[in-house]
Amino acid sequence: MKPAPVFTFHGEPTPGLRSLSAGLRSVLEAHGYRYEPAPKAPQIVFNLIQPDAVQPYRRRAQATFVFSLLEAQRVPEDPIAEFYIYLVRALSNVLMVYTPGVGVRFLTLELGHYVEPEGEGFYERIWARIAPIARSTLVIENRFETDLEPHLWNGDELTRSLSWAGRKLAEWDLLPAPFPLEKILPPRDLRHVKRLYGIGGLSYGNLSVRKDSRRFWMSASGVDKSNLVQIGRDILMVKDYDQNAIVLSVPPGVAVNRVSVDAIEHWMIYREHPDVGAIIHVHAWMDGVDQTQFNYPCGTYELAQAVAEKVRQAPDPACAVVGLKNHGLTITGRTLEEIIARVEGKLLRQVPMS
Ligand SMILES: [Zn+2]
Repeated sequence: MKPAPVFTFHGEPTPGLRSLSAGLRSVLEAHGYRYEPAPKAPQIVFNLIQPDAVQPYRRRAQATFVFSLLEAQRVPEDPIAEFYIYLVRALSNVLMVYTPGVGVRFLTLELGHYVEPEGEGFYERIWARIAPIARSTLVIENRFETDLEPHLWNGDELTRSLSWAGRKLAEWDLLPAPFPLEKILPPRDLRHVKRLYGIGGLSYGNLSVRKDSRRFWMSASGVDKSNLVQIGRDILMVKDYDQNAIVLSVPPGVAVNRVSVDAIEHWMIYREHPDVGAIIHVHAWMDGVDQTQFNYPCGTYELAQAVAEKVRQAPDPACAVVGLKNHGLTITGRTLEEIIARVEGKLLRQVPMS
């Protein structure tokens, strides 16, 4: 029999967080999780934070998901503007802001935010929100091999179409500026975040274009998508997925960046659908799209599978628009030009949150 997954609490509770923690503890125990006071490798950590002195919880393993808990007496108009910084400072996967008598507002790294109101079945509903996240697997390891053919070191027609499409998305104002991680995190925490999540920084959206039957070009992590220029730094050649790592071909002697965390999702789609020639992911929405059931975190195998399934179900997988719940869209096409032409004027900047 597999041992029960372990959870724990970290930090000092406020009165509101004390009652929230008690409820969380019962619901997790009811679902077969075991509480330990200071476990080595917990699967879930609830990090209780104070707004004026945020103490991050530093995981030792990627498989630990940190849900930071914060008490707030009022509900702000713009929760992302007010609370996103706590999510990042506490090095959490998800921030849960509890307003006693109102409910819990969830904030995710993907800029998702939604409320679970207090009342009947409150803790079961919270559990239904956090379980898919806590059970997902991040696929973020990058392996760089300096075997890119010399004639591709400065890019090709396809990487130029990638730059062009990135500028288009910026023109439509669909690329929020990369979140300035280095400005709000001390160097030690920044290194921690980069190592655990495989991100070069928080930026939103990514693009890719197929090179041949097995390879595709993709934007790097944390870079400005409106200025995709240099191979290795801004654009990477993804050539494989092997032993839970993304394998990249790069030119020799170049300071490389990691590829976007969603490379696993694009990899699955290209593998399954030879007609897909390009993929764009944006934090925007379109009317009438079919969406995934859960909001799995970016860069997880589960998100990739859920999106790949929706692409498979589309009438034409090479011309699909898939909604990622509380997050954004993944759009497939034959070329980037074709995608841009197809979605122009139809993208809504506000992603519905539920
Ligand atoms: Zn995203």
